[in-house]
Amino acid sequence: MELVGKSVFGGVAIGKLAIYQKQDNQVKREKVEDAEKEVKRFYDAKETAKAQLAGLYEKALKEVGEANAMVFEVHQMMLDDLDYVESVENIIRSQGVNAEYAVAATGDNFSEMFAAMDDEYMKARAADIKDISNRVVDVLSGAAQGGINSDEPVILLAEDLAPSETVMLDKSLVLSFVTKLGSTNSHTAILARTMNIPALIGINYPEDVEGHLGIVDGFVGKLIIDPDEETIAKYRKKQEEEAEKARLLQELKGKENVTLDGTKINLYANIGSVSDVVEVLKNDAGGIGLFRSEFLYLESKDYPTEEEQFKAYRTVAENMAGKKVIIRTLDIGADKQVDYFNLKKEDNPAMGYRAIRICLERVDVFKTQLRALWRASYYGKISVMFPMIISVDEVKRIKEIVEEVKQELDDQSIPYGEVEVGIMVETPAAVMLTEELAKEVDFFSIGTNDLTQYTLAIDRQNPALDNFYDSHHPAVLKMIQMTVENGHKGGAWVGICGELGADTTLTETFLRMGVDELSVSPSRVLAVRDAIRKVDLRK
Ligand code: PEP
Ligand code: MG
Repeated sequence: MELVGKSVFGGVAIGKLAIYQKQDNQVKREKVEDAEKEVKRFYDAKETAKAQLAGLYEKALKEVGEANAMVFEVHQMMLDDLDYVESVENIIRSQGVNAEYAVAATGDNFSEMFAAMDDEYMKARAADIKDISNRVVDVLSGAAQGGINSDEPVILLAEDLAPSETVMLDKSLVLSFVTKLGSTNSHTAILARTMNIPALIGINYPEDVEGHLGIVDGFVGKLIIDPDEETIAKYRKKQEEEAEKARLLQELKGKENVTLDGTKINLYANIGSVSDVVEVLKNDAGGIGLFRSEFLYLESKDYPTEEEQFKAYRTVAENMAGKKVIIRTLDIGADKQVDYFNLKKEDNPAMGYRAIRICLERVDVFKTQLRALWRASYYGKISVMFPMIISVDEVKRIKEIVEEVKQELDDQSIPYGEVEVGIMVETPAAVMLTEELAKEVDFFSIGTNDLTQYTLAIDRQNPALDNFYDSHHPAVLKMIQMTVENGHKGGAWVGICGELGADTTLTETFLRMGVDELSVSPSRVLAVRDAIRKVDLRK
């Protein structure tokens, strides 16, 4: 049987299937004589749950890093949320019922409320509320934690996995995660990427497959149940090939990104959070070519403060120890919605109120980020770039604001470093103005993901258009060529940070165009290095 879903991380896993054993959370509603006793039971259980979460935080911190561990800190705070606590108390007192029921009912109500919100981030919090409520119910009822019913490594199937569930898992027993629900940005997906194992979402597996053999093809998003001998052999071979490829690529660590004729190019990595730096270093990237700073805003319930941002940027700069770190300023709007910005719903959000357009109108928000960036630049080699540019005037205005920020820092005797300033070239308008824009900035970074969607008029989020989305379209390649030529004429260096940069069938083309830098996801760095080292520009 073959089931197709969506892959959130590539690779092949072959092994027995195991369905995640949820603890039994059947909660009964019972009348009680002494409501105050139940309230006290709730408070005691809440403290025990918080202590458990503190333990989980420490465990996760060691295993998967701070960014992934943070959720357990957030859960501890959620348990102290006044509305939540008051709701539980009210149900116990007004209905005269047991604490288990009051907690479960509160968890259901609150999670329904979150699930109904428009914002994807808030929607995802519904699972967190359920998770903390289940934990308290477990403490109250003394239930055991769920887990994997196997002592050999398995492909783990689950409806969905809450962060507290994944962290409790014995990771050495997991070959792959396969869930019915979940999203590309779910905690399970993040964990799979960190663990470097394939993971699928949206797989509606049958319930009677415990112990059956399965194959996860993370390259195409497929789960095969009870494969025949031929299929198993085919995938074993694929697994061996992947392992061999990975082993060979490891040998490229420490080597230069140089072609056979001696042409060198910078090869950097793209990241989306502070903890991704580990992967950047592990894969031997020469720097960070795109740090998507929006995660700071997406993970936050309110505008992240200057101090919070400064800490994040400084940590990345320090960990990269003098290597270049290019941080892109806020790029929200379109598919990345942040509730507290109160953005209006738009009919055509990809062409809407987003990125630099918001920053140039919300100068307060923009300046907070710029202050944090320039302050952090004192601790490493930070460059800053701006998304979605369409005009020279925008860049001039940005530079004025940057000067104001620097003046403020000077007035306050706050030190900052030399910061290279660049723009993303990801609109056809920017491409057509590259000659003029090159005089204003130090570098261009071509965002091929957006440049392709705007050039071809194809919504990159719409799966129905996948067949039309030709990433090798000559119009896009010509635009890249033009950007490189005009950039160089005006004295700006030019890189590519969109997904196309990692396409090794184009590496030679980019080198011939004179591209100065490629920035790719950390796991692609060594593959691209391999491609670069095979190119001979003399031929
Ligand atoms: C791009 O558009 O190519 C890009 C790198 O930015 P993002 O994918 O974050 O829009
Ligand atoms: Mg973009």
